[in-house]
Order: sequence, then C-alpha cells, then structure tokens
Amino acid sequence: SRAFNFSAGPATLPEAVLRQAQAEMLDWHGVGASIVELSHRGPEFMQVAAEAEADLRALMSIPDDYAVLFLQGGATTAQALLPLNFAAPGQAVDYVVTGHWGKTALKQVKHCVAANVAANGEPGGYRDIPARDTWQLSSDAAYVHYTANETIHGVEFRDIPDVGDVPLVGDFSSSIVSEPLDVSKFGVIYAGAQKNLGPVGVSVVIVRRDLLERAGQPRAEILDYRAHLKGESMLNTPPTWNWYLAGLVFKWMLAEGGVTEFAARNARKSALLYGVIDQSGGFYRNEVAAAVRSRMNVPFFLHDEALDKPFLAQAQEAGLISLKGHRALGGMRASIYNAMPEEGVQALATFMRDFQQRHG
Ligand code: PLP
Repeated sequence: SRAFNFSAGPATLPEAVLRQAQAEMLDWHGVGASIVELSHRGPEFMQVAAEAEADLRALMSIPDDYAVLFLQGGATTAQALLPLNFAAPGQAVDYVVTGHWGKTALKQVKHCVAANVAANGEPGGYRDIPARDTWQLSSDAAYVHYTANETIHGVEFRDIPDVGDVPLVGDFSSSIVSEPLDVSKFGVIYAGAQKNLGPVGVSVVIVRRDLLERAGQPRAEILDYRAHLKGESMLNTPPTWNWYLAGLVFKWMLAEGGVTEFAARNARKSALLYGVIDQSGGFYRNEVAAAVRSRMNVPFFLHDEALDKPFLAQAQEAGLISLKGHRALGGMRASIYNAMPEEGVQALATFMRDFQQRHG
C-alpha cells in the first residue's frame, strides 16, 4: 500500500530498512530497549556507530587518510563550517555556483571570508555548468567549493572538476553513494542524510586528515572538526536514531550490490524519465543541457501550466506522490534516489505517457 514517493528530501527510504527499524523498535537485539533509548556511549550504540562508519567506508572505498564524521546541523551547517575549519583569516575561498544550493553555500560564508565566485551559472538560469576553462580560480584559495548535484535545478557534474592542488570541497547531499566516486580527489565531501543516506538529522563529513591540521579561524570547540574527530562525532549527544537508520541504509546498499549496482539502476531510471520527456513532442520539457542532467532529480514542466494540478492529482490517485516542483522553479520534479525502486520510475513513466494521451 506504500506509494512511490518522489520527494526531494526528506525522501523515500528503502522499505526493508523501515521494516527492520520497526521490528527492532521496542527491543534492539534482545537488549529490552530501543537503540534510541540507550546511551550513545554505551556498547550497543558504539557498535552501531562503528559499523555505520565501517560500512560507509566500504561502500565509498574511503581511504584511511580520510576521517568520517557523523554530525548534526545538516549540510547547511557543514557549509558554514568550511572557512572556520579550513581557511586562514583573510585567505580567499573559491565557489563554483551551479544552482540554488551552491548559492546557499556561498551565503553561509560570505560574512567571514573573502569568497570569490569562480563561475556562476545563474545568468543562464542554471541550465548548464560553466565550462571549466572559464572558471576564474584564485591563485591562493584555501579550497574550491562546488555542488556535485543541484537538487532543485537538476544539474549534475558528471566528472570531478580538476582544480589542481587546491583542496576540492564537494556538496554531495543529493548524490552521495549514487555511483562510485574517487574520494581521493577531494579535500572534503559533505552530505545531509535525507536524500540518499537515511532520515534527516545527521550529516556526513568526509575530510582528508591533513586538512584538519590547518589553522582555520577562531571557533568554538563544537564547530571544530578536529574536536569532533577526537570525540568520535560524540562531542555532544549525537542524533542516535538518525545515525542508526543511516547505518541500516548502508547495510541495505551493501547487500544490494553497493554503489556500482546503484549506479546502473540510477542510470536506467533517469534515462527512462528523460526519454519520456524528450519523446513527448514538447508536452513535457526539461531545460537542462543534456550532458549535465541530474540522475537524481528530474525537474520537468508541462507545456500548459493549467495541467499541473490535474497532473498532480491524477498522479496521486495512481500512487505517485510528491511530484510538485520546488517553489523556486515551479513545474514538477521527480527525485529518484537510490531507494526509489525501478518499478516506481516505470510506473511514473507509464503514468506520464497515459496522461499525455488523455490531455495531449
Ligand atoms: N545542499 C544540497 C545539494 C541540498 O539538496 C540541500 C537540501 O536539500 C542542502 C545543501 C541543505 O541541506 P540541509 O537542509 O541538510 O542543511
């Protein structure tokens, strides 16, 4: 009876994970209490935390010279902490802005650091990624920040940009673990959990250990990644429920075949949807340059806005929910993260073709 849920985040979770959490809710592994009723420092949760880190390391092939942190505050807090941890006072930082979230990342740091916009897709309506040879990078930047996948505008980097020796910081909130990734190319990778990793409330920060030795800027301990690493991501009470569920998602992903398998599924799912859109003769349209279309978030418009409401209502009747586009763009958006089964995308494709037949 579960609908296919195309929400951008919080997003659908694997049914198997929800069922396991339900089964363990009252009594985790015979302890007589839920895992979220136990101390984060107790042996039970310490085991959950250690397995979550080990499983994420296995999933993403994270090298040993990278630390993995599980923190609160979402991706936005991770954005705000970048200059505090990695840029010396007065040192420039470079931002490549290819959508709403890149702009948000920049907004978080502008007040405290010399932020240079190295490239900006806004004049083109964020429909493409400015060519690498047009980027105006600073010569002495502390890092270069980019958004691997723009969740609202549906623009995704298909390659890791080459920025030389400057640490590359990637916001992977909406595309982490969706395909194999060479972590060694990055200084920092961060992601809120609520798209591909689990429920909202925990975020993952993967950071090259040597960068933690940078002076950064004066900051409270709770804003200091070195302290978080030393404190095993438990400087204060961590979001144990969210962390535990993310751990179940990692185990589910590993059992399903890992990121290579999900990359194949995600390629098929997104190709199917873009195919329906492109073959609709203009009934549906996606405005993003084909080479940078997101595999995770597919924004699309109907040729006549008056059809938006019936589209959403009939989709809901067909068990396809949360397709309304972000208010910044309007139209529709289908978010098809790892946990969206291929049958869900097939059902949406069939619905879209039928809807066009009825209203075209
Ligand atoms: N970056 C990207 C790419 C996002 O999609 C989002 C949220 O949707 C954020 C950052 C902000 O994340 P949070 O709400 O966890 O702060």
